[in-house]
Amino acid sequence: MIVVLNRDADEKAISKVAEKLNRMGYGVHRSTGENRTILGAIGERREEAAHTLEAMPEVEKVVFVTSPFKLASRDFHPENTVIEINGVSIGGSALAVMAGPCAVEGEGQLLKAAWTVKEAGAQVLRAGAFKPRTSPYSFQGMEKEGLRLLEKVRRETGLLIVTEVMDQFTVGELAECADIIQVGTRNMQNFYLLRELGKIRKPVLLKRGMSATIEEWLMAAEYILSGGNYQVILCERGIRTFEPYTRNTLDLSAVPLVKQLSHLPVIVDPSHGTGKSSLVPAMSRAAVAAGADGLLIEVHPHPQEALSDGPQSLNPGQFAALMEELKGVAACVGREL
Ligand code: PEP
Ligand code: MN
Repeated sequence: MIVVLNRDADEKAISKVAEKLNRMGYGVHRSTGENRTILGAIGERREEAAHTLEAMPEVEKVVFVTSPFKLASRDFHPENTVIEINGVSIGGSALAVMAGPCAVEGEGQLLKAAWTVKEAGAQVLRAGAFKPRTSPYSFQGMEKEGLRLLEKVRRETGLLIVTEVMDQFTVGELAECADIIQVGTRNMQNFYLLRELGKIRKPVLLKRGMSATIEEWLMAAEYILSGGNYQVILCERGIRTFEPYTRNTLDLSAVPLVKQLSHLPVIVDPSHGTGKSSLVPAMSRAAVAAGADGLLIEVHPHPQEALSDGPQSLNPGQFAALMEELKGVAACVGREL
């Protein structure tokens, strides 16, 4: 249930209600809004507990959240969550663009990709050091050496870094060198990993599972939030359907729908969503028009030489042209780029 406090509730009043909830056996999560504070009480649904709380002068009302996700729901946090990382905000009126090669392949390739995306206006460099590949014979990523290169490029360019975590054992190591930790589609329901990510205080980019419903996706976010890490960014990256012309089917209706259900920022990955570089510009424009808070786009200095996902990667010229086009679309929907 959520406990909505009176508009004039001060810190003392908020603590009083939070302590009462703790004594009643509830776990308490706080959401501080512009107008009022809401306390999310995680525990058993008990009508009499709600009556007791409603009798407190500090409490305006108690609401039972009907969806299975609680902390991810708009009931708990009516305003949009805006995540601030070193001067870059994700979920506010400015769009966030994360771009770069699918994988770190070497210093020269990474540096070139980084300067390319930075000069075109992206704020975050995205590249995988650990790669979850379908075939054990495909390039598996540079792993630890890749992390060192990401750190180096971060220092040289000032770009934020997002990179993928593969398991719960490497969360600490990744948290030291990444600004945002990516959970890939294949790990969206790796609950041990999600629990570990709930313990850290770093933003997590949670990709939608390739066969996950929107509810399952939001429940995966709930795992992280319930651990006390409230910095979750959702990423729609396409789902499996019967259509073979595209790698996945990009579900753009998920963007406005998730924004109704949840306060978390939502970005779109048209690269994995389509698997074809020729479709990426149109789907990027559509994503921004649909209300996405940002984009994740694969960009490689030489896509034809990429060790992974070359066919869906833009080259530097294509990416720069797309960023220019997106400015107009963003302005049409009241956003900046
Ligand atoms: C990636 O971002 O390169 C990746 C592997 O993505 P996904 O998990 O969406 O397939
Ligand atoms: Mn990729």
